[in-house]
Amino acid sequence: ALLDRRAASSGPGATADGHPVALLANIGSARDLPADVEGVGLFRTELLYLDRTEPPSFEEQVTAYGQVFAALPGRKVVVRTLDAGADKPLPFLRLAGEPNPALGIRGLRVARAMPSVLDTQLSAIAAAAASAEADVWVMAPMVATAAEAAAFAAACREHGLRTAGVMIEVPAAALRAPTVLRDVDFLSIGTNDLSQYTFAADRMCGDLAELLDPWQPALISLIAACAAAGREAGKPVGACGEAAADPDFALVLVGLGISSLSMAARSIPAVREALSAHTYDECVQFAKAALAADTPTTARAAVRP
Ligand code: PEP
Ligand code: MG
Repeated sequence: ALLDRRAASSGPGATADGHPVALLANIGSARDLPADVEGVGLFRTELLYLDRTEPPSFEEQVTAYGQVFAALPGRKVVVRTLDAGADKPLPFLRLAGEPNPALGIRGLRVARAMPSVLDTQLSAIAAAAASAEADVWVMAPMVATAAEAAAFAAACREHGLRTAGVMIEVPAAALRAPTVLRDVDFLSIGTNDLSQYTFAADRMCGDLAELLDPWQPALISLIAACAAAGREAGKPVGACGEAAADPDFALVLVGLGISSLSMAARSIPAVREALSAHTYDECVQFAKAALAADTPTTARAAVRP
């Protein structure tokens, strides 16, 4: 038992019967990189752009991305392109004055207004990837339609970036997950924004915590639809919102068919431990019970009676 416990305290994530589940880190820069991590599932690139009146230069970006890639030879790094707007306002975009910033020009939508910002970023990611051995994946935030996903994937390929995906944060994209997946290589569910937009509940509003609870049946249904689309297409679907860091909810995600979980590094040990204590079949049963529940309370009780 001691050996088992030690095996579960480091190394790659897996269920008790050996079904692999990549446990990845959410980072904002190379400084957040934990030791011995399987990879990075969400590299938030906003940090580079904060407090600027001009976007960071190509060279500056190559350096910042290169630092992360160089630290992870042979490992996966999912770089998210700039997710500006709403809770991440950036002065150089001059978007102030939108009546509803959360419903405005944000995430990938910025690329339509200022195409050069995305173009420079993709060039810099490609240049940094070319001189490192990390397995670099790229994804776009706040995608709403299959057409947006296809356009983003085409832009990535033009820059020589082979693995292109999108975040699922908008209910419209979750509902059309099979079509969204047609032109991209993977999906990553951002449960923070997917909750916000599904429940029309501001993610910063503590008074709405009940609606923002990841155990809400509507959120679980949307995640299940994305996972099913991934299975059908034979393409990976990961989760990278805060919900992936809840050890019990992680079991449900795995049972739904989610293949990687990305979270703040400090949350990885508890999730690894939970996975190692349950078989894949148990996770599938948890997922079925959570999907059948009518309230967050009964969904939770399905995993922890
Ligand atoms: C999310 O929305 O769940 C997510 C992972 O992205 P962010 O929290 O950076 O918006
Ligand atoms: Mg988000």
